[in-house]
Amino acid sequence: MNPKWNGQFSCFDLVAKTDVCASSVVRAGSVEIGGGDFVVMAGPCAVESERQLLRTAEAVAEAGARLLRGGAYKPRSSPYAFQGLGIEGLKILRKAREETGLAIVTEVMSEEDVDLIAEYADLMQVGTRSMENYALLERLGGCGRPVLLKRGMTATLEELLRSAQVIAMNGNRQIVLCERGIRTFETATRNTLDIAAVPVLKTVSHLPVIVDPSHAAGVRCLVPVLSRAAAVVGADGLLVEVHPSPDQALSDGAQSLTFRGFRDMMDDLQPYLAIRDASRRLVPQLVAVGGAD
Ligand code: PEP
Ligand code: MN
Repeated sequence: MNPKWNGQFSCFDLVAKTDVCASSVVRAGSVEIGGGDFVVMAGPCAVESERQLLRTAEAVAEAGARLLRGGAYKPRSSPYAFQGLGIEGLKILRKAREETGLAIVTEVMSEEDVDLIAEYADLMQVGTRSMENYALLERLGGCGRPVLLKRGMTATLEELLRSAQVIAMNGNRQIVLCERGIRTFETATRNTLDIAAVPVLKTVSHLPVIVDPSHAAGVRCLVPVLSRAAAVVGADGLLVEVHPSPDQALSDGAQSLTFRGFRDMMDDLQPYLAIRDASRRLVPQLVAVGGAD
């Protein structure tokens, strides 16, 4: 393995892999992430209405998703775009959990909203734009809920783990890392999926790692193939955008799968999940700092 990795990542001692803690399991409601199962989180980018969310919840649950993802507070690139339903959206998410049993993941953008969102969410999402919002990360340390930490769009893996360390230092080690694509010179896709991030993070950190192919690709036709890639490199799960009528979606419709597209993707993933188990055995073993490669 790369000898640089030890000093580079082992300084984040609460999230780095050690002999004592090689892998950790994060519990979101009754769902275990990092425990061996490939856990899929799915749903619309934004909660738009009760009907839209409940229909999506039923469809993704039937296809095998374990968590329902929907944004009630939306960080949008444009100030003129739909910003989410706020607390109304949280109430709709709660109703979907009651009706389907799916655990809920939703984004928190501000430290002021942490307590409110923790009442509704089983997993608190930190979006790419907030990865280095330390006031938010510190507050999430005491929120009593696990955190889904998305990689900043221009963040290195070292910076991602540094942010995870901030949450952990403030009292919360229940953290899931998410590779969601990074900014590069490429413009054919919305972001560049850094697929190597998965085995590197699985080597240097004990935290579960999931992949978001939707925000990486920006177009729905690439989502199934990137999901396969995520499984093959050993990810612990996926975060996928699904919408009843993607062309009418208020946000991220171009990358959202239809119900049928999601079902087909889930069915077709099966053979790749078998490869995933073999890939995970290829992850290099850490050596003691200063030790031989
Ligand atoms: C999202 O998950 O809908 C989202 C806004 O993601 P990101 O923060 O990765 O852009
Ligand atoms: Mn989105």
